[in-house]
Amino acid sequence: MSNILKGKRGLIMGVANDRSIAWGIAKAMHEAGAELAFTYQGEAFGKRLQPLAASVGSDFMVDVDVTDDASLDSAFAALAARWPTIDFVVHAVAFSDKSELTGRFINTSRANFKNSMDISAYSFIEVARRAYPLMQENGGTLLTLTYQGSTRVVPNYNVMGVAKAALESATRYLANDLGRDGIRVNAISPGPMKTLAGAAIGGARKTYKFTDQNAPLGSNATLEAVGGTAVYLASDAGAFTTGEIIRVDGGFHVLGMPQQENL
Ligand code: NAD
Repeated sequence: MSNILKGKRGLIMGVANDRSIAWGIAKAMHEAGAELAFTYQGEAFGKRLQPLAASVGSDFMVDVDVTDDASLDSAFAALAARWPTIDFVVHAVAFSDKSELTGRFINTSRANFKNSMDISAYSFIEVARRAYPLMQENGGTLLTLTYQGSTRVVPNYNVMGVAKAALESATRYLANDLGRDGIRVNAISPGPMKTLAGAAIGGARKTYKFTDQNAPLGSNATLEAVGGTAVYLASDAGAFTTGEIIRVDGGFHVLGMPQQENL
């Protein structure tokens, strides 16, 4: 897919370290010829991001807390000042209080419900509203990351499943709303991956192992595979795909039961 994104540029939100899904996507997009800008959450993450961004030829990094309108405004103002148009935004941001990513769903608190929804679902709408004026001339692609805990019950995923259901619905509404501007809106749904956010979910190791052992392709997804899907969606090859939730989970979602040898 070399150069399939040549001439395109965009914003990657959510690189915490080199295991982040956003980083897998950034690397694949860079290899496909795209120019990248990054957001990070606070100084400590900024320090970790700096060498990674440099390794893909980018010195364009902005501090953003997606719950803070002013920080989103200044990030998109900085983006518009440097690049009058962009072609894609990758939203790979989620958060929920770790104490509620374990145990019974019924104990979800109002405060953490609101915060999880705000960061993990609503922020995609805030990002889309600021990104679309920069895409109106040439069209563009908005991408977010979801997980099958949105539609099926996964142990300990709890309130994050509800937030992902909202995010997937927002993806469809945004796809319809922005289609008239030539902007496509899609979500990638990877299987479980070993990241900072992934590790916050109770029993993450067991979920990872179970998926690995039972997925039809016999393995969990890789950062490269998720990155490749993002490249396709942001490229002209994805020109007529919008409002879609694309699974990159080795086929795990088709199962009704574990593989026979694991029963
Ligand atoms: P990660 O910890 O590497 O990335 C999560 C990012 O969210 C971090 O960069 C963090 O700084 C950012 N973030 C959290 N709160 C924020 C805020 N208020 N403002 C700005 N940024 C904020 O973990 P990841 O697994 O790469 O997560 C990326 C996306 O992929 C998330 O939406 C996650 O739900 C999704 N996802 C993860 C898995 C998995 O198993 N790890 C599977 C499917 C989907």
